[in-house]
Amino acid sequence: MNFSDDPTHSLIRSTAREIAEEYGPAYWREKEENGEFAQDYWDELAAADFHGLLLPEEYGGAEMGMQEMGIAMETLCAEGCGMAGTWYLVLTAGMAAVGIKEYGTEQQKETYLPDIAAGKRNFSIGITEAGAGTNTLNVATTAEKDGDEYVLNGEKAWITFSDRAENMIIVTRTTPRNEVEKGTDGISLLIIDMDDPNIEVSPIPKHAINYSKSCEVFLEDVRVPEENLLGEEGDGWWALVDMLNPERIGFAAAGTGIGKLAVDTAVDYANEREVFGAPIGTHQGVSFPITRAYAKMETAALMRQKAAWLYDQGKECGYETNVAKATAVEAGIEAVKQSMQAFGGWGYAKEYDVERWWREVNLTRLAPVTQQMAYNHISQQIGFPGSY
Ligand SMILES: Cc1cc2nc3c(=O)[nH]c(=O)nc-3n(C[C@H](O)[C@H](O)[C@H](O)COP(=O)(O)OP(=O)(O)OC[C@H]3O[C@@H](n4cnc5c(N)ncnc54)[C@H](O)[C@@H]3O)c2cc1C
Repeated sequence: MNFSDDPTHSLIRSTAREIAEEYGPAYWREKEENGEFAQDYWDELAAADFHGLLLPEEYGGAEMGMQEMGIAMETLCAEGCGMAGTWYLVLTAGMAAVGIKEYGTEQQKETYLPDIAAGKRNFSIGITEAGAGTNTLNVATTAEKDGDEYVLNGEKAWITFSDRAENMIIVTRTTPRNEVEKGTDGISLLIIDMDDPNIEVSPIPKHAINYSKSCEVFLEDVRVPEENLLGEEGDGWWALVDMLNPERIGFAAAGTGIGKLAVDTAVDYANEREVFGAPIGTHQGVSFPITRAYAKMETAALMRQKAAWLYDQGKECGYETNVAKATAVEAGIEAVKQSMQAFGGWGYAKEYDVERWWREVNLTRLAPVTQQMAYNHISQQIGFPGSY
């Protein structure tokens, strides 16, 4: 192991810090309140080559890995962007870029990857369905072959960016679950154009992160050319699993990133605010809960780095990404909760932002994988029987 400073990582940190200073808490408070997409921030990420971080140079990318992406995301989150540090990168620059890079045809790579790297194309990822929930193998959206096209019918829920994304990678069944030997068979991924008139998108009013919309998506007889199949027909499950590892690493970075942002803000406040003739930070009842959470975030961030290293080496990393995600989320939530406590009643005021970070960080225990599902995976790895 080598923990010496890597010049590339330092450069990514300093670039992310500069962006986060420009797009700081006041910017996100306004975007959240107005429910506006942050196009100028998105463009700034493109100018810094962050959308193409994971892509090969031949497609306009920076040819780096999840280690660098994790550092970029955590720094953006921690230095002022909060959840937006991960949110605006994880779906297109993370999942879609990885899926198309690893499983796309040459034509798909040429069509989509340079645009992703340039920040000109936004992808949504359509996995969740109300009827299937966490049990993705039960997705009921069908893609039936008709000549050289697939015809899609079904409903998706919570699909982030689907109101504005040009494309979606959608999880469908090309063979119904009751006709396959294993539940993982018969699932196929397709790249669809979102401007199809047979697609209807309806935003779900939500608790936080309102600088993007997450929507229900209804598909009725949507015709998709067969060349838009991503990977092999019926074998999409394994491509999806490969795309989920970067997502877990991204959410681990969000957990510790938002947590560190809240802690830094609370430390400043606790050094200034005096109630009984001394800064409140001198009371260990204030400082220790925050410090304990901070120490846990530090260890969770190390696990994220290990998971990213394994991922970048092409090694199996499902266990490590789940451990990193589960621990980073718990530590991050605790850090924001205790930081909010340090603000007393003012933690409830929008002007201090910590209430917004509280709303944001709580998403990380629900998505992309719930904490229970992450622990299901970990507990099976250490020998417990599975719960599904
Ligand atoms: C803001 C937001 C954005 C999102 N963006 C996207 C997106 O872009 N694309 C997308 O596809 N999805 C997206 N999602 C969906 C998200 O991934 C799901 O909500 C999540 O996976 C949980 O599914 P569910 O809500 O149906 O919960 P359910 O499956 O109904 O589960 C309910 C509860 O039961 C628990 N549970 C279920 N089974 C077990 C078990 N075997 N053991 C222990 N506990 C269990 C779950 O952990 C959960 O706590 C988003 C969600 C939100 C809130």
